[in-house]
This record gives sequence, C-alpha cells and structure tokens, in this order.
Amino acid sequence: MPVINCPYCDVRSTFRWKSDHKGESSSFLVYQCDNCHELILLIAKGGKTVDQYPMRIPKLDKSIPDRVGNDYVEAIKCFDIGANEGTRKNL
Ligand SMILES: [Zn+2]
Repeated sequence: MPVINCPYCDVRSTFRWKSDHKGESSSFLVYQCDNCHELILLIAKGGKTVDQYPMRIPKLDKSIPDRVGNDYVEAIKCFDIGANEGTRKNL
C-alpha cells in the first residue's frame, strides 16, 4: 500500500490497490486514495514506479479569476504530459 501525496486532495495518504495490468515491459496499476477515494494510475518498470497520472492537480486561490485559473491549470496539465505546445498556448 503506497503512501504518497494525493494529486486530488493534496494529503499524504495511503492508497489501496484496485487493479493492474502487466504489459511486455511495463505494469499499469490503479490505486485509490484512502482520503478522497479518487483513482490514480501508476506505471512501473522492473518493479519501480516510473510515472503517475495525474501527476498533480494545482490548487488555486479563490481570488484568481476563473478564466486565468482555468488556463493555468490546463497549462500545468499539458506540461506534466510533455505537451509543450499546449503549455505555451495556455500561459
Ligand atoms: Zn486523495
């Protein structure tokens, strides 16, 4: 049961195994946060976690206008998956 900072609730939480699939070179594991019950996907190679989705969900101050905040969140999501063109368009 991994303990990580949850990208949804931003709490250091334990995660329960829900499902997995073993590919040729990678394993795909779905875990559920014990705090907020959202699901994350971990990708492992050789028994070591190499990637996680979502990586993070930015928390914004309520004083930030929705239009600006939504563009910022979209830019962070693009950055996390290496979509550099999407990052530039949203910043
Ligand atoms: Zn959570």
